[in-house]
Amino acid sequence: MPKSLVRIFAKQYVAGENVNDVLEVVSSLNKEGFKTTVDILGEHFTDENEINEIVAEYNELYKEIHNRNLDSNISIKPTHIGLDISYVTVLLNFTSLLDLAKKYNNFLRIDMESSSITDDTLKLYRKLISIYDNVGIVFQSYLHRSYDDLKNIKNKSTLNFRLCKGIYKESGNIAFSNYHDINNNYLKMLEYAFENDIYVGIATHDTNLIDKCYELINKYNVTSDKFEFQVLYGVPMDNYLNKHKQNNYTVRVYVPYGKQWYEYSIRRIKENPNILIYVVKNLFKR
Ligand SMILES: Cc1cc2nc3c(=O)[nH]c(=O)nc-3n(C[C@H](O)[C@H](O)[C@H](O)COP(=O)(O)OP(=O)(O)OC[C@H]3O[C@@H](n4cnc5c(N)ncnc54)[C@H](O)[C@@H]3O)c2cc1C
Repeated sequence: MPKSLVRIFAKQYVAGENVNDVLEVVSSLNKEGFKTTVDILGEHFTDENEINEIVAEYNELYKEIHNRNLDSNISIKPTHIGLDISYVTVLLNFTSLLDLAKKYNNFLRIDMESSSITDDTLKLYRKLISIYDNVGIVFQSYLHRSYDDLKNIKNKSTLNFRLCKGIYKESGNIAFSNYHDINNNYLKMLEYAFENDIYVGIATHDTNLIDKCYELINKYNVTSDKFEFQVLYGVPMDNYLNKHKQNNYTVRVYVPYGKQWYEYSIRRIKENPNILIYVVKNLFKR
C-alpha cells in the first residue's frame, strides 16, 4: 500500500515521530482536560540494540513528562522491550522503567498483545505487582479465559486494569467472535470490577456499550475515583467525551507515536480493514 495513502490513516491516529511531537499533543490534550497514556509504536523487537534504544526513549519520556509537568502515564508492549528475546530480558527492562516511574510518581501499564503471549504477560504482571504498586495490566473481553484471569488475580486492592475488547485475530476456539458475546463478557468483567472495588480503565469507542457501562456505574453507585474512560487518539466519539467530562469522569487518551507508524498502520488495517471505512467517514465528519 503506498506510503502516501497510509499517511492519511496515520496522521489521524499517530502523534508524530519523536518525543517532542508526542509531548506537544499530550500538552494540548491536557489543556482540553484529558489525561493521556503514551505508547511508542512497535512490537516483536528481537535486536538488543534496538530494544535498548526503545527503553532509553521510554526513560526520556518519563523524565520529560515530569519536567514539563504533564498528566500522562505510559503503556508498553512486552514484545517491544524484550519478551521475544527472553522473559528475563523483558523483566529487567520493565523493572528499570518501573524504578524510574516510581521516582517520578508515575504509572506504567503493560499492554496486552495476542493470546500466544497472554500467559507470559500475566506472569510478568504478577511478578512486577509483587514489587511495585504503580503497574497495571489489560484484559481483553473477547478471550474466553479473561474473566477467570481477572478473578484469579490475587491482590485485588493493587489491581488496576484496562478493559478492552481485544484487537488481534484469534481463533474461535479461544475467543468470542460475536459482537454480543464480546460485549456481554465486557460487561460481566466490568461488573466484577465494580463489585470488588477494583480500579478499571473502561477502554472502548462502542457507544452502545458505553451506555451499558453508565448503567452499571449508576447501579453500583461507583465513585469517579474507581474508574476512568479510555479512548484511542484520533477516534471521534461524538458527544461522549463531553458527557464524561460533564459527569466529572476522567478520560484518558491513548497516544501512540514513533517511527514505526507505517508498519503499525498496515498491521491495524490488515487486522481490521473496516478501519479504512472509519477513516474515510471521519474525514467527512471533520
Ligand atoms: C485506550 C485503549 C487501549 C487499548 N489497548 C489494547 C490492548 O492493550 N490490547 C488489545 O488487544 N486491544 C487494545 N485496544 C483495542 C481494543 O481492544 C479494540 O480493538 C478497539 O478499541 C475497538 O473496539 P471498540 O471497543 O472500540 O468497539 P468496536 O465495536 O470495535 O467499535 C465501536 C465503534 O468505534 C469506532 N471505532 C473503533 N475503532 C476505531 C478506529 N480505530 N477508528 C475509528 N473509529 C473506530 C467505530 O465507529 C465502531 O463502530 C485498546 C483500545 C483502547 C480504546
